[in-house]
Amino acid sequence: MKEKYDVVIVGSGVSGLYAALQFSEDISVLVISKRELSLSNSSLAQGGVAAVIDKDNDNYKLHIADTLIAGGYKNDLSALEVLVTEGPSDVLKLRELGVQFDSDSQGNLAMTLEGGHSRHRIAHHKDSTGREIVRQLLELVAAKPNVELLENTMLCSLQKDSGGGFWLGIMSADGEIKPVFAPYVILGTGGIGRVFKYTTNSAIATGDGITMAYNLGAKIKNLSYIQFHPTGFAPPDDSHERFLISEAVRGEGAVLRNVNGDRFVENYDYRGELAPRDVVSRIIIQEGKRLNSDKFYLDITHEEPDFVRSRFPMIYEKCLEEGIDMTKDWIPIYPTQHYLMGGINVDTKARTNVPGLYAVGECSHTGIHGKNRLASNSLLEALVFSRRAATDIILNICVNGCAKPKDEPKMPSKNGKPLRKGIKTTIRNILQESHFVTLDTNKAIEKMPVIEELLKEVYADDLAMSKDLIEARSAVTVAYIVLKEDIENAKNNAN
Ligand SMILES: Cc1cc2nc3c(=O)[nH]c(=O)nc-3n(C[C@H](O)[C@H](O)[C@H](O)COP(=O)(O)OP(=O)(O)OC[C@H]3O[C@@H](n4cnc5c(N)ncnc54)[C@H](O)[C@@H]3O)c2cc1C
Repeated sequence: MKEKYDVVIVGSGVSGLYAALQFSEDISVLVISKRELSLSNSSLAQGGVAAVIDKDNDNYKLHIADTLIAGGYKNDLSALEVLVTEGPSDVLKLRELGVQFDSDSQGNLAMTLEGGHSRHRIAHHKDSTGREIVRQLLELVAAKPNVELLENTMLCSLQKDSGGGFWLGIMSADGEIKPVFAPYVILGTGGIGRVFKYTTNSAIATGDGITMAYNLGAKIKNLSYIQFHPTGFAPPDDSHERFLISEAVRGEGAVLRNVNGDRFVENYDYRGELAPRDVVSRIIIQEGKRLNSDKFYLDITHEEPDFVRSRFPMIYEKCLEEGIDMTKDWIPIYPTQHYLMGGINVDTKARTNVPGLYAVGECSHTGIHGKNRLASNSLLEALVFSRRAATDIILNICVNGCAKPKDEPKMPSKNGKPLRKGIKTTIRNILQESHFVTLDTNKAIEKMPVIEELLKEVYADDLAMSKDLIEARSAVTVAYIVLKEDIENAKNNAN
């Protein structure tokens, strides 16, 4: 690792990697990832990437309309237009770069359907699209001579330099912290799932980038817009991590059943199982209250077993590991935290309000999702806006050059008091009670003083810097912003 780069990209998910790919050899780039390079939400993406490619049967207006309906019309229309009209060429670019999307007998992309989409417009690689995209992007980025790619390397502090760039505290696996200067920083640090009790998210999703941007004065918007997926695999042991049963399974005809084995979704919404995921999640919670049971199932046993095995090989294998043969058995499911629509507020060039600081992918808020993400729009958002961030930085470097460091960096110390254990669990329990599928504002008000005390505790000066401390700070900060927003929204709605 050097002491200075033109650009530091924090995150090796689809957003970070696709941004890194855009920079030419004269621009030095560092990409860091706090765990293994391929451990991310991107690698877990199953369903695919939504894009209007089959123009005979689909058009931009329909994709925009579907996204607006799912988002409760709270979407930013100008950002959405950018996404929908530019996205198809990024998806085709991925194919050109060697990503193996499934194709039909004529060699065209095979497009599938997912909940909330009015057309077949999801490009996919079986049921492991994200893993395939990350595989290929990692190979391409690793081959670029101007890019240094470091795993098990964590951003632990971010401060502005008065000369215009940033000092980053970079912590290696052995806990050593080194200062790195960069005129431009792209945060592609992903979501916040691990702040919740049940989540489909990867272990890295602790909101670190959002927290550091917030502490630097970046505007955070709609962090309370959190998506719960209706069909997380519900293991008998009530464990924390929930394997996702993709929406595409319902897209291919699977139905939901309650504890009595009855279908029920159409009793609440005419769109049935293909209603947007927030709607289906709420329906499951409502039906659970009606029947006083949290046992729910996804049933695709009526489909041909060979089709199910070949269309969903990863889900099939994962279920089998849990003792469920989805060609014969109903899959036990329950809603789980899945995706963050809000985040670090950015414009259509992925710029935050802090000059030189960009945010892309799930940690950002472009406004395209509104209150609820339409399935498979997030990989598309990661592609389109990370390319736009890189383009803007390249232009800036051409016009203005790169800022030089003026200040001495102030790095956190690895020496000091260890953090008290149990803080992240406390936060998860608070969010489970106050912000799980439906909101409980009274609980949020009751728990706010606890969170405020925890904020003081995790930001105490005498604590030793560590991975645990970074993630605990993130958990408490994220919970604070989410519940504050919930309380303010409830007040505004009451007025
Ligand atoms: C189970 C599942 C299925 C999904 N299916 C789909 C789908 O079919 N279609 C779709 O469009 N979307 C899907 N999504 C959502 C989509 O995968 C994500 O929103 C998207 O991939 C996020 O990409 P990203 O690059 O923003 O973040 P991520 O891919 O999560 O990457 C974040 C990166 O940031 C790094 N990082 C975080 N904090 C630090 C730190 N402090 N220091 C250093 N590095 C750090 C991590 O190590 C990681 O490399 C799915 C999500 C999940 C969880």
